[in-house]
Amino acid sequence: MSHAPGVNIDVPLIDLAAQRAQLGDRINTAIERVLAHGQFILGPEVGELETRLSALVGVRHAVSCGSGTDALLLALMAHGIGQGDAVFVPDFSFPAPVEAIVLTGAAPVFVDVDEAHGLLDPASLEAAAQHLSGLRPRGVIAVDLYGHPADYDAIRCVARKWDMVVIADAAQSFGATCGDAWTGSLADVTTTSFYPSKPLGCYGDGGCVFTASDAIAAALRTLRVHGQEAGGRLTRVGLNARLDTLQAAILLEKLALVEVERAARQRIAARYNEALGDIVDAPETAANCRHAWACYTVRSSRRDAIEHALRRSGIATAVHYRTPLHRQPAYRDALVAPGGAPVAERLAGEVLSLPMHPYLDEATQDMVVDHIRTVAGQRASACVASANRMEI
Ligand SMILES: *Cc1c(COP(=O)(O)O)cnc(C)c1O
Repeated sequence: MSHAPGVNIDVPLIDLAAQRAQLGDRINTAIERVLAHGQFILGPEVGELETRLSALVGVRHAVSCGSGTDALLLALMAHGIGQGDAVFVPDFSFPAPVEAIVLTGAAPVFVDVDEAHGLLDPASLEAAAQHLSGLRPRGVIAVDLYGHPADYDAIRCVARKWDMVVIADAAQSFGATCGDAWTGSLADVTTTSFYPSKPLGCYGDGGCVFTASDAIAAALRTLRVHGQEAGGRLTRVGLNARLDTLQAAILLEKLALVEVERAARQRIAARYNEALGDIVDAPETAANCRHAWACYTVRSSRRDAIEHALRRSGIATAVHYRTPLHRQPAYRDALVAPGGAPVAERLAGEVLSLPMHPYLDEATQDMVVDHIRTVAGQRASACVASANRMEI
């Protein structure tokens, strides 16, 4: 399938309408059921969803909450992390993990990521923990970037030496596995997001924390309702961080699509890898892992040229992420691992996420591929143009 580059088409990064069509009337019926019973806060669908999620993921407790960011904050609060504590976090990430750390009063320490997957680098973590002074090392938040689980075995090895809790930010990796284990059971505590564009998304904000610990689960349930215990006593300083019943009802319907959508994403990612592997660095999946493919993200030294060419043709792309977090004004003073984060710096200049969703048809995907190959054919001149732009 070949299309002339420059012809204006409209290819979105993610197509939520196609998924909506797949679900037919089920969403409307679910919403109407909630409107009829009227239990909008912690209604029966919330508990039902938590039961279904914990069974699916294979972990004892699933505690739903208001967003993926709330989930991170609740996880840190449930471990009593705050002033005087240090929590390690990848420098190349969505900002939610670091902002949750700062909001507890703890100090974030940025750690570099690995070359192969852009995931938290256990060696950089170890160096950062070793060089920490004046703060208690309490935890590490690893981020399953793009849907690929971090190396939790190696991270756990390092974390054990300092008795740190391992938190997995699985906002992008719901449905991924390592060996037989789902994300949700790979770390001490796992957080996820139900933001609409995530692998399991609702129609608003939502999140969840997974843990095998009864004590942590009890703390999370208290913290999400202002620190209030069943009898009404306030035993902790908490938040309002509940998942809406309406969103739980929507998620219950969408759960049916998790496996089939993940398989569709896997098929699309394999086609991209096949078609683009010779002209860009295509994403690799570790041998024992199943990728959730929240994003299909390639790397190229000519990222900017490809990005601009696709944009001119009406093909949506995104850069996750353009700036390492320690270079953002809000986190300028935060600690960084010894040696800095050179891999994070490089990736920020090279990554590009292409259209990826379970309903991306082959003709559209081929069109995206054709456009990228055309830009790659203009190698020399585009290289000069992007080098010049960097000088400005
Ligand atoms: C989306 C995302 C979050 C935050 O989720 P919200 O539900 O939007 O608060 C946290 N971490 C990562 C890695 C994310 O991609």
